[in-house]
Amino acid sequence: MKEPQLMFPKGAKKKKRKVHKKSILQDKDDHRCYLCLLQGNNQYYPIVHEHHVFGGTANRPLSEKYGLKVYLCPDHHQFSAEAVHVNAENSLVLKQAAQEAFEQEYTREEFVQIFGRNYL
Ligand SMILES: [Zn+2]
Ligand SMILES: [Zn+2]
Repeated sequence: MKEPQLMFPKGAKKKKRKVHKKSILQDKDDHRCYLCLLQGNNQYYPIVHEHHVFGGTANRPLSEKYGLKVYLCPDHHQFSAEAVHVNAENSLVLKQAAQEAFEQEYTREEFVQIFGRNYL
């Protein structure tokens, strides 16, 4: 008979697991670009980049925690003038959408408390 498996083998340190929450904005496996879709372009891309809507040292983990991530084509992510990492207008589009999604579950006060400002 097989021995029952220990969930945490003796001596093994219980790993502190990082919580990876699914995007609440978009299905990861959709392979379309969030911004392309907004512009009426339904193209599927072989590679889409995961983008944390609120970036930076403090906010990136919070984006992860609350699932505020989108999937973008490489051009909309980093490699064109429209890319969210260089284009403030497109970056704001995402932040507003993310705040709206967040507020389906939480209050605006909580959003501002967590992310420091109101984008809507
Ligand atoms: Zn795109
Ligand atoms: Zn990014």
